[in-house]
Amino acid sequence: MSVTTPAAPTSAPVTALPQDFGALVRQDPEIADVLLGELYRQSSTLQLIAAENFTSPAVLAALGSPLANKYAEGYPGARHHGGCELADAAELIAVQRATALFGAEHANVQSHSGSSAVLAAYAALLRPGDTVLAMGLPYGGHLTHGSPANFSGRWFEFVGYGVDSDSGLIDYEQVRTLARAHRPKAIVSGSISYPRHPDYEAFREIADEVGAYLIADAAHPMGLIAGGAAPSPVPYADVVCATTHKVLRGPRGGMILCGAELAERIDRAVFPFTQGGAQMHTVAAKAVAFGEAATPAFASYAHRVVTHARVLAAGLEAEGFDVTTGGTDTHLIVADPAPLGVDGRTARERLAAAGVVLDTCALPYGDARGIRLGTAAVTTQGMDEADMARIAVLFGAAVREEGDVHTEVKELSGKYPPYPG
Ligand SMILES: *Cc1c(COP(=O)(O)O)cnc(C)c1O
Repeated sequence: MSVTTPAAPTSAPVTALPQDFGALVRQDPEIADVLLGELYRQSSTLQLIAAENFTSPAVLAALGSPLANKYAEGYPGARHHGGCELADAAELIAVQRATALFGAEHANVQSHSGSSAVLAAYAALLRPGDTVLAMGLPYGGHLTHGSPANFSGRWFEFVGYGVDSDSGLIDYEQVRTLARAHRPKAIVSGSISYPRHPDYEAFREIADEVGAYLIADAAHPMGLIAGGAAPSPVPYADVVCATTHKVLRGPRGGMILCGAELAERIDRAVFPFTQGGAQMHTVAAKAVAFGEAATPAFASYAHRVVTHARVLAAGLEAEGFDVTTGGTDTHLIVADPAPLGVDGRTARERLAAAGVVLDTCALPYGDARGIRLGTAAVTTQGMDEADMARIAVLFGAAVREEGDVHTEVKELSGKYPPYPG
């Protein structure tokens, strides 16, 4: 059962629109209603999906710009199409901002998504049949880390490392033992649900010992890294893959960072090996996001995201949830609601009925699922530590089905419209 949010009528938007929807409303009221309904849904419920955020109106404006019309296969100065002067300018600005922001020698900003970035990294460094050591899927490995339903599991031999069943932390001695036994061609750090910082130095040392590449899949923490609120894999990894739409708060897309010696291989692996023409409106929007992420305001945001996650995690523990690893160093929290008498699926349903939107996820032990949530979006909205403490109490009430949580959630989200005006 999922919450059904009433679609807001086009005539009565609850929040100022980030862009001028006038032409769309007049031409196609059917789809305009869907988009306005989605704006209403995002404004009237609590967005705690760990991978989501609210982009700025400037990012949305770049996405809705005429660069969406432009074909630009290739790279700046070497395109397969004419008329690319301004597309080149957008991409050069995006690349220059990305390399400066992350202290990397090379950036490729064309990946359509985080998964496309990982696919290109594998294409650049591996051959089908090669062995790769990555976090096992039951512990938080991403689909691209060897799922049998994904190209990665079909084309490569994946070996999975786990976490210590008591602490929930990566056991680097296990990683080392598996690396020695399987001699992988690449080791992947990164996860969809690990709430602590990977030890990139330890991964590098193990990779060097067995002669493996180190690929850091920093899809989740890239925005924290940009803001100085999480350690950077750039000095340690051969290739860093990331998304631009999670904590980084840019458009939906991916990016890859690497040293100068791998630059050409990475670029060719993105285009023409795994992708066609770049989405230049998205590239421009990535440039806008990198510009925003280089500001002191964003650094302050990134640190607040982590503080908020810590406050929320402590509040959830006080409500009886079992928080994996005992807390978080990032924006991300994984909690087991079993002490409240339900599993993650039931908890998510009850929270959804109260207007709280989040995911379930695998727990590092047993078969039951937990819940996964993050503080990137609510922090962008301007919520504070007291709000996080309040949200934790609302979680307890919603999962125990006590009181009218939905009304309180509406009040809270109504105080912080994501696109005020
Ligand atoms: C989100 C994520 C991805 C994939 O991102 P998409 O843009 O959804 O393809 C890859 N790896 C990790 C670890 C992620 O968290």
